[in-house]
Amino acid sequence: MIKEESKIALIYTGGTIGMVKSEKTGALRAFNFDLLLKKIPELQLLEHQIETYTFDTPIDSSNIGIDDYVRIAAQIEEIYDEYDAFVVLHGSDTMSYTASVLSFMFENLSKPIILTGSQLPIGDLRTDAKENLITSIQLAGFKKDGKPVIREVGLYFEYKLYRGNRTTKLNTDHFQAFSSINYPFLAESAVNLEVNFSALKKINLKQDLIVHKQLNPNILVIKMFPALQKETFEHLLATPNLEAVVLETFGSGNSKTDLWFLNALEKSIEKGIQVVNVTQCKGGSVVMGKYETSQALKEMGVINGKDITTESALGKLMYLLPKKLQSKVLKTVFETSLRGEMSSN
Ligand code: ASP
Repeated sequence: MIKEESKIALIYTGGTIGMVKSEKTGALRAFNFDLLLKKIPELQLLEHQIETYTFDTPIDSSNIGIDDYVRIAAQIEEIYDEYDAFVVLHGSDTMSYTASVLSFMFENLSKPIILTGSQLPIGDLRTDAKENLITSIQLAGFKKDGKPVIREVGLYFEYKLYRGNRTTKLNTDHFQAFSSINYPFLAESAVNLEVNFSALKKINLKQDLIVHKQLNPNILVIKMFPALQKETFEHLLATPNLEAVVLETFGSGNSKTDLWFLNALEKSIEKGIQVVNVTQCKGGSVVMGKYETSQALKEMGVINGKDITTESALGKLMYLLPKKLQSKVLKTVFETSLRGEMSSN
């Protein structure tokens, strides 16, 4: 890869990477971002020009909500033309949700937006923060023929760059906290930084960036479990203002065939609630109609989530619902890969 200088915006939203232990309670809390840069003098050795932006009040990612998604997107949109790449420091707990929704919010993205964080705070002797931050910046800064190599929303953690909307946080203890089972990694940090070019998103450079900042949060995840009760299910589906449900089904998209279950679901779909079938397995795909236990879902018009993650399905719904598409159109659009978030078959 040719070394060229890039101008990179580092946006700090919060998370362990910039946290310190409270002397009083021992609990981790966010601290001043300027100190974060002091803790990593190595950043000055990179060939890139780095400028920083920070949330007024850095937050634990468990507190992130749709206003924060819009805040991050608006910040990047505002400075989009000034920089070659964006690295967003974010707590790992909900990083996959943010990476997923941002991928939908940025249509025709032609620069990298890489989210990263760490499992141990930057001040910890054994911290993973330095490698994650430095390599994220290096990958974000990669250019070929004067153009950024990565032109999508990525998530970098523990030696791997993933497509953000394919990731899930799988481990609270290991440095390798994320996985992307249904899609190969985009780059790997070993002795050399290896980019997996065939996995990168192809883009049409002629199309202008559109940033979609309207999100609809009237959605719900319902995870199937064998002892699910009629009253509970009906109660959840009767949630006021509910517009869409991500139904985490068993195996390749299977659910109960009890009449109370199917009737409640069908009634909701008739009312205009969108229901997406996503498998609760970590890898593989929904195949509606493969078993009798998914045939009824297919017939009543449940959307096939294929191999999308729950995080990505939520992001896609929040992005699509404000478009006010007819149910059938929304189903077709949802079942189409928009940002490489699902396989096409
Ligand atoms: N609770 C933290 C957060 O998600 C954990 C982390 O940063 O890894 O903000």
